[in-house]
Amino acid sequence: MNLGKYSFGIGDRFNHEGAAQLSAIVEANNEGINITPVWNKSNREHDIVNSEPEGTRKEADTAVKESGWKGNYFVDADHINLKNVGRFIEHSDFFTLDVAEYIGKKSPEENIKSFKESCKTLGDRIDIEGIGNSVSIDEELLDLVANKYLAAVKQAGKIYRHIEKAKGKGNFITEISMDEVEEPQTPVEMFFILKMIADEKIPVQTLAPKFTGRFNKGVDYKGDIKQFAKEFEQDILVIDYAIGHFGLPEDLKLSVHSGSDKFSIYPVMAEVLKKYNKGIHIKTAGTTWLEEVIGLAISGDEGLTLAKEIYIQALDRKEELCRPYADVIDIDESQLPSPDEVSGWNGDKFAGTLRHIPGHPDYNPNFRQLIHVAYKVAAEMGDTYIHLLEKNSKVIRDCVKENILKRHLSRLFEFLLTLSR
Ligand SMILES: [Zn+2]
Repeated sequence: MNLGKYSFGIGDRFNHEGAAQLSAIVEANNEGINITPVWNKSNREHDIVNSEPEGTRKEADTAVKESGWKGNYFVDADHINLKNVGRFIEHSDFFTLDVAEYIGKKSPEENIKSFKESCKTLGDRIDIEGIGNSVSIDEELLDLVANKYLAAVKQAGKIYRHIEKAKGKGNFITEISMDEVEEPQTPVEMFFILKMIADEKIPVQTLAPKFTGRFNKGVDYKGDIKQFAKEFEQDILVIDYAIGHFGLPEDLKLSVHSGSDKFSIYPVMAEVLKKYNKGIHIKTAGTTWLEEVIGLAISGDEGLTLAKEIYIQALDRKEELCRPYADVIDIDESQLPSPDEVSGWNGDKFAGTLRHIPGHPDYNPNFRQLIHVAYKVAAEMGDTYIHLLEKNSKVIRDCVKENILKRHLSRLFEFLLTLSR
């Protein structure tokens, strides 16, 4: 299955904006940027809104049919494991195998032994251009990487074979994710992870490592951009090497789980992609949901009242809503406006506070992050929320499309435009 050189993950909590999301990609396509859309929704999101993977499949198929999209598209079972993959099998054709919790787990002695044995063919040094001094492959290094990553990759193999048995070889895209951990993987670790993946015979097409810095949901990157740039470039070089030497799929590429809106590293990524002529998969969080709230806020009194209610309830239930996202949000409580204050806002003020426009005087990333995790509140409103979405669909669709096209795709893929002109 061909994911294409550039692919972009579009998450949608309530399965209502598929057409609007796709219209952004269609427009980018018309501009000469070919991007494959991937609808991603994690098990966690399904649990929180009480939805099923079948809904995501229907949304994607309907959007594609209605828009006449002729390219490939995928439905991603995001961050799944052996326990929860079952409900995704029938409806997904892209699986993100999350093995982060197996990192550092002990492997049986015989596995470690045969891994070390297999490394004898690598010679005694790793020499990959661009990743610094050559590294000697010794007992100590092999023990270190085996103890850290072998159990995780073996687990990925188990999940992969489970899916392959059900769907058949070559009928789905495989991603392996190790991003939800504290420490970034070093280029040398990446080298061995890729070797282990090849040994497990997993036809991985996208790989999501952990990068340096904070990838908080829905807000910009926080961290050392130079260090990020270095890691990103090194990862690309190691992957390139692994394709050539370990026989991994030719189209294997990095997947960046951006958590959305990492505007300040988009140009950095773009530069490296251009330099090496490489592809990328970007996985975004469900910021389409935020565009729904923005659209409601500017659609008139009824929508604005509901948008305010979502915030006020979220403020009240902050701890509960933030809990599943504790590691990927950073909310400064002192910067959250009070219910009284928000009650007095007009639609533009509400939208300006929520919309991610860096430098906009009203923009408040704390407010934005809280609403980001507050989709549970909207889910509990049930038909009241959905009814207003449908009633104001035109305004909302424009917001969704503009967000993906103007704030994401055109920033990240701008270099393609200059190339094609
Ligand atoms: Zn992730």
